[in-house]
Amino acid sequence: MQAQTGFRFRCYPTAAQAQILLRWIGCQRFIYNAKVTEDRYYRKFARKALDQTGIYPPVDQQYSRYIHPDLTPWLKEVPSQVLRNGAVRWRQAYARYFQGLGGRPVIRKKIGRQAVWLTSELFVFHPIVDTKTGEVLGNRLTVGNRKFAVGDILFNAHKDYRIPNSIRIGIEGGQWFLSFSNEDLSQVPDEAETVEWLRKFSEEELLARTFGGDRGVEIPLAGNHGETFDFEPIQKDRMAKKVCQTKRYQRKMARQRTQAVKEKRPLGANYRKTKKRLAKSHQYGKNVREDFAHKTSRAIVHNAQNLLMVYEDLNVEGMTKKPKAKKDENGKWAKNRAAAKAGLSKKILTAAWGKTVTFTKYKAIKAGKLCIKINPYQTSQECAECGHIHPDNRVSQSEFVCQACGHQDNADHNAGRVIARRGVRLLLSGGYKPKEVKRCGIFRQKAVEVIGPVRSESTPGESIVSHVIGNGAMQGTWNQEPFPVREETPATTA
Ligand SMILES: [Zn+2]
Repeated sequence: MQAQTGFRFRCYPTAAQAQILLRWIGCQRFIYNAKVTEDRYYRKFARKALDQTGIYPPVDQQYSRYIHPDLTPWLKEVPSQVLRNGAVRWRQAYARYFQGLGGRPVIRKKIGRQAVWLTSELFVFHPIVDTKTGEVLGNRLTVGNRKFAVGDILFNAHKDYRIPNSIRIGIEGGQWFLSFSNEDLSQVPDEAETVEWLRKFSEEELLARTFGGDRGVEIPLAGNHGETFDFEPIQKDRMAKKVCQTKRYQRKMARQRTQAVKEKRPLGANYRKTKKRLAKSHQYGKNVREDFAHKTSRAIVHNAQNLLMVYEDLNVEGMTKKPKAKKDENGKWAKNRAAAKAGLSKKILTAAWGKTVTFTKYKAIKAGKLCIKINPYQTSQECAECGHIHPDNRVSQSEFVCQACGHQDNADHNAGRVIARRGVRLLLSGGYKPKEVKRCGIFRQKAVEVIGPVRSESTPGESIVSHVIGNGAMQGTWNQEPFPVREETPATTA
C-alpha cells in the first residue's frame, strides 16, 4: 500500500502577485459555482422533461458557455486552465458524490480559506544549482504562462518534498500557502497486515507496547505510561488573549453593521478591516492547535515503544454544546460565566483532540503501526487494576481511588491505562475491523499516463528535493540525487 503525503508551505507573493492570484481564485470559484447552479437548475426545473427525453444533467467539464464578452469579460483576464480546473474540480466533486464519498457539490463561499488549483501548464519548479559544486540547492517556483505571468513566488519549504503534478495556492486568515500532495514512494504495510501482526502478541506484551491516550480538560492528553502533553504556557496565555480579542472584534463588527444600517449605507472599509483582523486572530489559535497536534502525534508514533495507539471515540459535537442555563432561587436566569468559559476552553481543546487523533492515525499508518478508537463509556470511572466501575471511584478531578481494591492513582493516568487495555482487548478479540478505504479513480491519474509533448515522461515531477527556503535563499547543505531538468530531457514517448 502506498500512502499519500500532503505538504503545506507558507508562501509570500508580492502585493501585485497577490492581486493576480486573488483574481484567479475568484474566477475558478465562479466557474465552479456556475456549474453547481446550472446543475441545480437542471435537477429542479427540467427534471420532469428529462425522463421523457432521456437527456440528463450533463456532468462534464465544459465551461466556455459562461464566458461572455459583455457579461463576464473578466473571465478573459485569467488563463483558460484556471477556468477549466474550476470545472474539473466540480466534476471531481461529482465523481466523489457518485462514489458515495460525499454530498453533491455545493456553492463555494467567499469567506474562509480560498485557493486556486493549478496544473502543470501554469507553474514550474526550476532547480537552483550551486554554480561551484553543481549541487541542486532547491527550487524556484514560477507561476503563470507567457500571456499571464505571475513570476517567481517565494515559499518556505520546511521539509523535504517531491515536485508535484499540481499545486494549490491559497490564502487563509491573511496568510498565503502553497500546498500539494503526492504519493509516498515507500511501501507501507496494509492496515489489515498490521492488525494480523499485532494479534500475534499476548495481551501482556501488547499492553506494554500500547499507548492509551486520555483526553482531559486540565491536561489535553495524558498517556498510560505517565506521559503528558500540554500547550506551552505562552501559547495558553496568548490563546486566552486572542479569545478576548476575537470577542472584541465581533462586537465591533456588529456595531459597524448596525451603524451602516442606521445610516442606510453599504458596509464600509473599516468593517472590512475589522473582518480581516478577526480572521487573523482566529488563525493564531488554529495554528497553535495544529502545531500541538502535529508535535504530540509525532512524539507518540515515533516512540519506538508504541505499536498500538488507542483513543476514546468521543462525541465531539456533544462536547462542544452550549452549557446549560441556570436559574437562581427566585427563578430568574443566573449568569453562568464559569460554565461558558469551561465550554469555551473545552471547545478549543476538542479541536486539538480531533486533530491529534487524525494526525496520529495517518502517521501510524506511515510507520506501519495502528491507531484505533474504543468505546469511551465510563473510562474515567473504571479501575485499571481490578476493573471495578463506580462513579465514587473518581474522588476529584485529578484523583482516583478504587472503592473495591483501594488502588490509588492520578485520574488521567488511570483512564489512560483503562483505554489502553480496552484497545488491546478489542484488537485481540477481533472486534476491530479496518475500514475499507474508498477512493475515487479520478484522483489517481498519473503524469506518466498523460501523453503529449509537454507532459511526457520528462516531467514526472517525482524527484526528491531537500528542504530549502523557496526561492534561492540558499541555506544549509544536503545530499540528493541529480535533478531532472524539464527542458533538457528528450520526450521519449512516441
Ligand atoms: Zn480496583
